[in-house]
Amino acid sequence: MAASSNAGTMLAMVLDRAGLPLRREERPIPQPKSDQVLIRIDACAVCRTDLHIVDGELSPSKLPLIPGHEIIGRIARSGSATPLPEGARVGVPWLAWTCGECAFCLSSRENLCDRARFTGFDLDGGFAEYTVADARYCFPIPDRYTDQEAAPLMCAGLIGYRSLKLAGDAERLGIYGIGAAAHILIQVARHQGRRVFAFTRAGDNAGQEFARSLGAEWAGGSHEKPPMPLDAAIIFAPVGSLVPAALRAVNKGGVVVCGGIHMSDIPSFPYQLLWGERVLRSVANLTRADGIELLALAPRIPVRTEIQSFPLTAANDALTSLRSGKVRGAAVLSIR
Ligand SMILES: [Zn+2]
Ligand SMILES: [Zn+2]
Repeated sequence: MAASSNAGTMLAMVLDRAGLPLRREERPIPQPKSDQVLIRIDACAVCRTDLHIVDGELSPSKLPLIPGHEIIGRIARSGSATPLPEGARVGVPWLAWTCGECAFCLSSRENLCDRARFTGFDLDGGFAEYTVADARYCFPIPDRYTDQEAAPLMCAGLIGYRSLKLAGDAERLGIYGIGAAAHILIQVARHQGRRVFAFTRAGDNAGQEFARSLGAEWAGGSHEKPPMPLDAAIIFAPVGSLVPAALRAVNKGGVVVCGGIHMSDIPSFPYQLLWGERVLRSVANLTRADGIELLALAPRIPVRTEIQSFPLTAANDALTSLRSGKVRGAAVLSIR
């Protein structure tokens, strides 16, 4: 989209209150502090977490808020204390800042930092022409990807990758919900020699076909029984009833990883489903080490992202498409 703002101002899509559509606003371009960079945004992917924020299932710490935490852009200005050069292409993920001092930060688990701050949640994010970000949390982006192609790696890719790591060395891997995260994760899992079993909403033939085209050897409805017991399952769909379904599908000793930040309530289930040393766990946020690993691995596979592009001012349309399950791959706002 051509820049439509006047000098010193930028276009942004702003959430005033949960339940309302985002509002287009012209506002001053933010100024970077000494440890921040000002980024001219080229693309920002739309994540299900953005939808949870807009729909009121998650409450951000500030309103009004510019959502968006899968940002690709170029440094327009560097703060005095950052080494990043102007013009460099960077990605900005969900993890915006950590304290570096708490027990979690000091044990390589900054994703669980007691005082962590998140992009497009505690801080204004990427549904805008510019943003500021702490330079220490920005990633360099591999050259093989365009801005639009790279954007979904920043959360869908990263959370999927962390979920896969928490699934251990499972060979037969189930994935529930074939959206942006799953479409990247299937490619990584296949590259690692794992066998993928994909679960979609019942009757979602297009989603099942998409999963097969990415390398899943079986695809079916979410309450179907897979052709053989699984070693692990990852749940991306925000649907609590999938937890007992996934526990039923994994073998003894298997792990079920809940990959989303929000899920509807999990119905009660017989202890028998957990018995046999099955493990149920969530995955929260990302560490910078996760990002560095994935961004080194993705171009070598190579992971290909499938995107559906929307102009910045159509951010509400992108959210609507995501809510109704109409996006194949990832929705991305193309900002420049
Ligand atoms: Zn901390
Ligand atoms: Zn996200």
